[in-house]
Amino acid sequence: MFAQNFEKMTGNRTFTMIKPDAVENGYIGAILEKITGAGFKIVAMKYTQLSKRDAEEFYAIHKERPFFGELVEFMTRGPIVAAILEKDNAVEDFRALIGATNPEEAAEGTIRKLYASNIAENAVHGSDSDDNAAIEGAFHFSGREVF
Ligand code: GDP
Ligand code: MG
Repeated sequence: MFAQNFEKMTGNRTFTMIKPDAVENGYIGAILEKITGAGFKIVAMKYTQLSKRDAEEFYAIHKERPFFGELVEFMTRGPIVAAILEKDNAVEDFRALIGATNPEEAAEGTIRKLYASNIAENAVHGSDSDDNAAIEGAFHFSGREVF
């Protein structure tokens, strides 16, 4: 049953985090409303905080980037909302909904345009591929937490 839940992630599921800046700024409700209003169904969700080790593992792909230390510091400084979302074409559609990494370049109406502070503190995470969606979802949730 647990394996089945993760298999179902491929193609129609993505993983998101409402990052510490957006939580601090009081945007959890507004962001969840944008997400569900765009047709995403929440199939797993938790309010949690990343440890340094969690953040270093989650963002391991960026470990050679000059901003890695800052990124880990930022992502661990307060609570986040982690969620798995379901919708046809979830990964691509969610990346469109959140907008460009840098909110100054994000399209009008996108979550980052509306709620991000800057390129570092940009309100939300969205998986960039089906494979990463499955890996990132499994990083945060056990099978029995996914509905
Ligand atoms: P994303 O896929 O749009 O989230 O962007 P990336 O995968 O390129 O980067 C991952 C995360 O690292 C971003 O969402 C930002 O939180 C952070 N980040 C990206 N570029 C920078 C930067 O130039 N400086 C800092 N401090 N953080 C950055
Ligand atoms: Mg990325």
